[in-house]
Amino acid sequence: MLILTCPNCGIAADETELHPGGQAHLERFGPDASEDDFEGYLFLRSNPRGVHFERWRHSMGCGKWFHAARCTITHEVFGTYTAQTAEPPRELLDRIAAKRPEALTGKTGGEVVLPPQPAADTFAKGPSS
Ligand SMILES: [Zn+2]
Repeated sequence: MLILTCPNCGIAADETELHPGGQAHLERFGPDASEDDFEGYLFLRSNPRGVHFERWRHSMGCGKWFHAARCTITHEVFGTYTAQTAEPPRELLDRIAAKRPEALTGKTGGEVVLPPQPAADTFAKGPSS
């Protein structure tokens, strides 16, 4: 069972008390953005095999959003921090690097997903006709 500590109220909540919110630290675009940038913001998400930064809501508790760094393979939680934090805290990145040095280099596919999100043109658009 996945247990995350809410940084807003300090309660260690299991996943039945939480609501997932997808990838954290998405780059938002203004009205002058290209359609590809806007499409990427709306629909394209990273789904790494390894360390991932995610948004979670403590829906059955304080109701506030927060971010968590977790391994998608082992469910190991590296830490949580408030949703108002623009980037993962340095101490959290250092903790991840100490436990999973390969995660920061992407050599094993277990890459750390940091802002900005991948460019929209890195994803296949489907078969061309
Ligand atoms: Zn909470």
